[in-house]
Amino acid sequence: MPPERFSDWTYHPDLLAQPVPRYTSYPTAAEFSDGDFEALQHESLAAVRGDISLYLHIPYCHDICWYCGCNTGAANRTERLASYLDALHREIVSVAQSLHPSVRVVRIAFGGGSPNAIQPHDMVRLVDALLVNFRVPWPVLSIELDPRSLTPAWLMAIRGIGVIKASLGVQTFDPRVQAAIGRIQPRDDIARAMAGLRQCGVESINFDLMYGLPFQTEAILDQTLDETVAMGADRIALFGYAHVPHMIARQRRIDASELPDQRARFAMAAQGSARLIGARYQAVGFDHFARPGDGLAQAALAGTLRRNFQGFTDDQAPVLIGLGATSISQFDHAYIQNEKNAGRYRMLCSAGRLTGRRGIARSLEDLRRGSVIEALLCRGEATVDADLLAQALPRLAPFIERGLLRRDDDHLTLERGSEPYARSVAAVFDGWRSAERRFSSAV
Ligand code: SF4
Repeated sequence: MPPERFSDWTYHPDLLAQPVPRYTSYPTAAEFSDGDFEALQHESLAAVRGDISLYLHIPYCHDICWYCGCNTGAANRTERLASYLDALHREIVSVAQSLHPSVRVVRIAFGGGSPNAIQPHDMVRLVDALLVNFRVPWPVLSIELDPRSLTPAWLMAIRGIGVIKASLGVQTFDPRVQAAIGRIQPRDDIARAMAGLRQCGVESINFDLMYGLPFQTEAILDQTLDETVAMGADRIALFGYAHVPHMIARQRRIDASELPDQRARFAMAAQGSARLIGARYQAVGFDHFARPGDGLAQAALAGTLRRNFQGFTDDQAPVLIGLGATSISQFDHAYIQNEKNAGRYRMLCSAGRLTGRRGIARSLEDLRRGSVIEALLCRGEATVDADLLAQALPRLAPFIERGLLRRDDDHLTLERGSEPYARSVAAVFDGWRSAERRFSSAV
């Protein structure tokens, strides 16, 4: 029997059987080990020159969604938030003092959690601290937002600090699916957030959406995509829900018997992609879409798209410094993750210490393999050293035979319709993967 087709994609379940990482880094965070990375963090910060980006993590939300895998807690205790912010201010000073004075910040991203779980004046104070302590001539400011708590005071703060990119957690517009994932969010909240952000001068607004949710069908996903297009989202990230309750305890509240199976997930992903491309969005990587004028679409066309801990990005800064508990800093030769425990994070910051307590040094082999993985995922093609290619060819053969991947000597190109298999092809070049680890489904 010929394989089934869904929209522009052909379904090969055997090629998707092995769960694979999302490759927001290589090596992935699963390879990080615990340890005292403070000395390496000092050394790495002192060696940085040129442009950098900053990421600030706010690990609090007003309501905790059942599906969420982020490091976040309830924003229900004022003193807990205040002491976290105090620690973050201290870390800003410690990190800034560790950098060479020539280092320039070109982007600042606030994520979480929900950055708008803190008070808007606290956000203004954080931005002030960054401007005072770092060299920040003209930064691009972006922020992740929970539309349900985007108050008028928050909108004023967003205008005041000059945010130009925002990402809204939407996931689905369907009330029954929302109830099944523990995120009740009326459509009007999102419409109000969109209108308010546009009035505040936010140029690029992303919607995070999900497929593979309980009770979700293709028709339900269609309605969500129609609303998204009608509301004028500039970017869309369409993620497959990863149900891993053995790793994320809060997901146990989701009824696994109502989750769509892998075939239904594939059909939804294929249909979502076709629908957004039909609505004149440009496909970016394997799960993002952007309007043609948006910076992400332009980066995809220009071959300058990159992948970091925030997903696909047009950020070209070679170094990303994470601030806040669990934040990850990305240097050329190492990934260093801050202390996860909020109490220990606060104690280290109070003592004027850097807080890197997990991470990994990147070997030359990691850099070589990582550049192939990033090229395949971001540009859909890669030139591969002869020895790596020889090792990989037996595992690439099924993708080549089914027309998903083309080989021209040492050059590999992902073919049209290969998006759902891109991570699986990339995983062939992953020198760290072992069969036992449990990652999310490839689609
Ligand atoms: S609002 Fe966002 S970060 Fe917070 S729990 Fe829900 S999905 Fe997670």
